Amino acid sequence: MKNKKVLSLLLILTMSTSTFLLSGCSNSDKNATGDASMSNVELKIHYHGNDKYTLSDKNGKLKPVFEYASEKTGIKINDVANPVGTSSANEFQLQATQGFPADIYGGNSLAPEIIKYGQQGAFVGLNDLIEKDAPNIKKFLDANPTVKKSITAADGKIYYIPYVPDPSNLVSRAYFLRTDWLKKLNLQTPKTVEDLEKVLLAFKNNDPNGNGQKDEIPYFNDKVYETIRLLNLWGARVYGNDSYSERVVLDNNDNMYHAWLSDDFKNALINMNRWYSEGLIDPEFITRKANTARPTLLTKSNQGGMTHEWIASTSSYNDNAELLSAVPDFKFEAIVPPTYNGKSFEEAQRLSVKPDGWAISANCKTPEAAIKWMDYFFSPEGSNLTNFGVEGQTWTMKDGKPAFTDEVLKQTGVNNYLWENQGAQYPIGYPMNYAYESQWTNKIGQEGTKLYTDSNILIKNTTPVMQFNAEEKATYDKVNNTLNTYLDEQVEKMITGQLDINSTWDSYVKQAKVLGADDLVKAYSSAYKRYKSIK
Ligand code: CA
Repeated sequence: MKNKKVLSLLLILTMSTSTFLLSGCSNSDKNATGDASMSNVELKIHYHGNDKYTLSDKNGKLKPVFEYASEKTGIKINDVANPVGTSSANEFQLQATQGFPADIYGGNSLAPEIIKYGQQGAFVGLNDLIEKDAPNIKKFLDANPTVKKSITAADGKIYYIPYVPDPSNLVSRAYFLRTDWLKKLNLQTPKTVEDLEKVLLAFKNNDPNGNGQKDEIPYFNDKVYETIRLLNLWGARVYGNDSYSERVVLDNNDNMYHAWLSDDFKNALINMNRWYSEGLIDPEFITRKANTARPTLLTKSNQGGMTHEWIASTSSYNDNAELLSAVPDFKFEAIVPPTYNGKSFEEAQRLSVKPDGWAISANCKTPEAAIKWMDYFFSPEGSNLTNFGVEGQTWTMKDGKPAFTDEVLKQTGVNNYLWENQGAQYPIGYPMNYAYESQWTNKIGQEGTKLYTDSNILIKNTTPVMQFNAEEKATYDKVNNTLNTYLDEQVEKMITGQLDINSTWDSYVKQAKVLGADDLVKAYSSAYKRYKSIK
């Protein structure tokens, strides 16, 4: 059965490849003659990200970052993406139907598609080009072997240059607690999960918001999947990496298992169900609209006591004028994860490499120029440009480091400002520099990041970003979404007590296996074995 499936997949791959060969020129037709002629080179770039951004502004003029890069590299840039496209994914698929006629393709979350089409011959394998013509990318990949392994396809080739979060700071989310409420109720910062339960019970029962009503919501999140991650508190792993759909994780012996089917997970569920029935967890955690919990339960109603969220945005509530005028003592500070059986960990962290970036079409006649363009953004000058914008416009050099102007720092949405006005911080292929973000993270946020960094609390065995082969990807596509939908529904019912955990558990695990949980773990295991073998 299995072989038959692989065979039919190969047939599809072969057919698609011939389509591409018919539709475009072959990559061996190389006309570029090196740097001397680079000034005559023009690259057609189809970059479409976040469902709206291209390299140009709405008048069709290149954004400052790309105009500057074009001058510096001597490469003319022709932005061929549709600025009013329906979505970035659709715009990419439309290009696929035309055989990817432009030179460079990019956007966010495109990596799986680029790699799929790349293995069919539509994108250039970049390994040799990086070696010969991209000294900055080569240097970066040599220094960051994890990134290189993560972007290497099952056939050993690299098809895209990725957006890489700054490896010097992977801390993302932290537990935040109302320390003004702790003080008011004369409580200590909790060190263990048992301490924390007592604190949250006091939040629930002792009216820390002082309105005479038992209306406090001790623990809440902006997303239902983040609330489920609370199971971490009792030692259970929940997500493999920074994606809620990744639930196959590594144990301490380097073996893959499905986190949601483990005995640890069951034990944690029993504890979380107790908290839910004690009123410690947001009763609306499943139905509340995503991303509304913090603005509602902090700014609007002063009911929320604790969350687990992104450090920069959560700490910014301490500077929220509307909130402070109503609650002058408001203080929301990070605490280290409390211990359970003497141990604690932080599972959430930034991905080591994102599925964003760009790639060179097999139709590109000047791949040396294309890789030179991409390499520029990994050079010190190009990296500053794409992280901070054009020097003198959005930042100046202070003590050897780029410092944003006051105009940038006063923005409530710095990212949005940089995307709109500069084209900086687009998820093209480049190394993100955490200094861009730390400059507008407030003191409480900086302290939270330092607390998590210094306590060395981030788990080391996240599920790496890895590339599946065709058979593994077919298993993943067949199983993962369907399985996750079933797990979500059952686990939510077990947390809220609609299903009794002890009497449900065995049939829950059995049904997960019927839906292919074991095959999924096998696919992850074989991909991981290959990942580890990449040199
Ligand atoms: Ca109250």
